[in-house]
Amino acid sequence: MDATAGEAGEHDFVDVLIVGAGISGIGAAYYLQRDHPGRSYAILEARGASGGTWDLFRYPGIRSDSDLHTFGYEFRPWRSDVVLADGDSILAYLRDTAAEHGIDRHVRYHARALAASWSSADARWTVDVADTETGARSTVSCRWLFCAAGYYRYDEGFNPHFEGRDRFPGPIVHPQQWPADLDYAGKRVVVIGSGATAVTLIPAMAASAGHITMLQRTPSYVLPVPSRDKLNRRLTRLLGFERSYPITRWLNSTRAVLLWRFCQKWPRAARKVIRDLNVKLLPDGFPVDEHFNPPYNPWDQRMCMVPDGDLFRAISGGKASVVTGPIETFTSGGVLLADGRTVDADIIITATGLNVQPFGALTLTVDGAPVHVPERLVYKGMMLSGVPNFAFVFGYTNNSWTLKVGLVGEHFTRLLSHMDARGYDTARPVAADPAMPSKPFTDFQSGYIRRALDQFPRQGTRAPWRISPTYRGDVKLLRRGRVDDPELRFETAKQASEAAVS
Ligand SMILES: Cc1cc2nc3c(=O)[nH]c(=O)nc-3n(C[C@H](O)[C@H](O)[C@H](O)COP(=O)(O)OP(=O)(O)OC[C@H]3O[C@@H](n4cnc5c(N)ncnc54)[C@H](O)[C@@H]3O)c2cc1C
Repeated sequence: MDATAGEAGEHDFVDVLIVGAGISGIGAAYYLQRDHPGRSYAILEARGASGGTWDLFRYPGIRSDSDLHTFGYEFRPWRSDVVLADGDSILAYLRDTAAEHGIDRHVRYHARALAASWSSADARWTVDVADTETGARSTVSCRWLFCAAGYYRYDEGFNPHFEGRDRFPGPIVHPQQWPADLDYAGKRVVVIGSGATAVTLIPAMAASAGHITMLQRTPSYVLPVPSRDKLNRRLTRLLGFERSYPITRWLNSTRAVLLWRFCQKWPRAARKVIRDLNVKLLPDGFPVDEHFNPPYNPWDQRMCMVPDGDLFRAISGGKASVVTGPIETFTSGGVLLADGRTVDADIIITATGLNVQPFGALTLTVDGAPVHVPERLVYKGMMLSGVPNFAFVFGYTNNSWTLKVGLVGEHFTRLLSHMDARGYDTARPVAADPAMPSKPFTDFQSGYIRRALDQFPRQGTRAPWRISPTYRGDVKLLRRGRVDDPELRFETAKQASEAAVS
């Protein structure tokens, strides 16, 4: 780690401290060192490895559910026509990117950022760090804090209470803590859930499991997508990777937004299109409305994508089935539903989701006053009202997360250049109209988001306090838009300390 002041390990100082070495943290580091090679930076990573999500999740079949030409970085082409890539390939891509650009040398592993306090007098953050192996504490100070800590807890997934859990004698596994030695060959497996994890697990396990049942309380929309991008393959043959990548990226990000808009604008038509695709891939007489027709509109919650309809093929092949209904209790033989039906099981997988946690559970203080995040507004989708020199990434729900990493990374480095040119140390978003009405961070209806919405900052009703729901909107705001704004207050440390005293 670069230490330009004090003794390394005690009073480390870096210009920019990034929290998290996942796809966001590695991406942020790339833009920072590309545009500001003279600035020192470090990445704090609580775990012993980089990659975040793509290192943590180890369940069979783990893969992306958005295409890699948009989930990959803009600056490093995804060199394959595979659309939804497996977890190992994504992890290798991330680590290769970090190694190729020397970013891995800046990562400090087993270092969890616990709390950060801002001093206007010094124009610095002081960050408390815990060594996750030894528990030892240290501090790092920095000019800017960049939070790339993802959006969920790593220590445990969401585990709702199921009656009779103790009565079930077999393994009960949450996909976030997948045991490497779980033997499911020939076994009857029940997967509780209907989200991206469940629809990934089922086809992946179906080949060797005896039988696998997707047990869901309510259905999700499941959209078959081609596993290979034929257009990208043709473009690559014609133009090469470097030139075909931005075109495919543009096409795919546009397609994702068009699909989302179509679903929002014409939900009935969208529902019918998805239903027709499902019917085509399911066996004759399959009760499609019971199992694949959700009570909400398409894209009100995250849509599940299945490559070449693999889930439907597993169902048609007889290795997988779907049961829809609320659970009454686990039993010694499996699961009893509220309507009296039973599902026999040797293994139960609770694919019940994540525990969302904003900003890596980091506690923020500004000049001694605690920052209560739910009372803050989001500025341009990347900073918080009243919190100086703090940026973060929270990606799209209707498009690849990484698209936002690129735009925030670029805007952030432009902001630093703007401040350098004018001698500013501090940038603090302050709403001109503090009584501006606010609304929740997102109107996305997925359960994991709804459960945690009260921990998130809110958004305003006008720019720059409104969060753009689409990539195109952010291209306008973050890539083409100016970095200065009447509601982003710039100061020198001296001005800020005088203001804090008066
Ligand atoms: C199974 C699964 C599949 C997904 N598939 C897709 C997809 O196909 N497309 C898509 O767009 N999105 C997908 N997502 C969402 C996905 O998490 C993000 O797209 C992306 O990987 C998030 O990257 P990140 O770097 O922001 O966060 P993460 O990958 O969560 O990485 C955050 C890192 O920060 C570290 N960290 C957290 N808090 C602290 C702290 N206080 N101190 C130090 N370190 C800390 C963590 O240990 C972790 O390494 C998926 C999510 C899951 C769970």
